[in-house]
Amino acid sequence: MGASKNPHDDISEVLLNEETIAARVKALGAEITAAYPGNDELVLVSVLKGSLVFVGDLMRAIDRNVRIDVMEVSSYGGGNTESSGTVRILKDLSGSIDGLDVLIVEDIIDTGLTLNYLTSYLAGKNPKSVRIVTLLDKPARRIAELPVDWTGFEIPDKFVVGYGLDFGEHYRNLRYVGVLKRELYASIIGEA
Ligand code: 5GP
Repeated sequence: MGASKNPHDDISEVLLNEETIAARVKALGAEITAAYPGNDELVLVSVLKGSLVFVGDLMRAIDRNVRIDVMEVSSYGGGNTESSGTVRILKDLSGSIDGLDVLIVEDIIDTGLTLNYLTSYLAGKNPKSVRIVTLLDKPARRIAELPVDWTGFEIPDKFVVGYGLDFGEHYRNLRYVGVLKRELYASIIGEA
């Protein structure tokens, strides 16, 4: 798929550096801690694989008791860089969320179709509440309106990788969020 040996060479622009992300995640953790006073169980539902890195940092910035569960979903039908709105659950929750506060931890909201599906799916499992935290938001591309409770950063309509986000399963381990060079995915979106 044309990825370079050195992943940094495939990035056209660093959008958010490590320090910027760390400061924002710390602030989000403090806000989330304040929003859930008391000792009721809070379940962080990490949406794999993109939110892996974010949830790892965010959970350590939340100063209260939490439980972690993971779901893996795939949007399919479109190309590699487009969400289709048809969501398939590859891995469901391991524990019950009946009567519990749930916080969905997402990497990025683009059209909103994936999370739209996921919130109604989780709401059907009788939780006490369902809220959403996303590291990144591309509001320009929203199709499904969603009540997003916490957003790390609003970003322009560019395809980004790093800090958990991939392209063809590469780049997740970059410590920053960067824009992927367009020529690497142009063929997939029909530009080349
Ligand atoms: P939505 O259903 O909101 O359109 O899409 C959400 C999913 O699409 C994300 O969880 C992510 O997997 C993928 N996605 C959307 N935009 C980007 C992007 O800029 N970079 C990467 N790596 N994935 C994206």
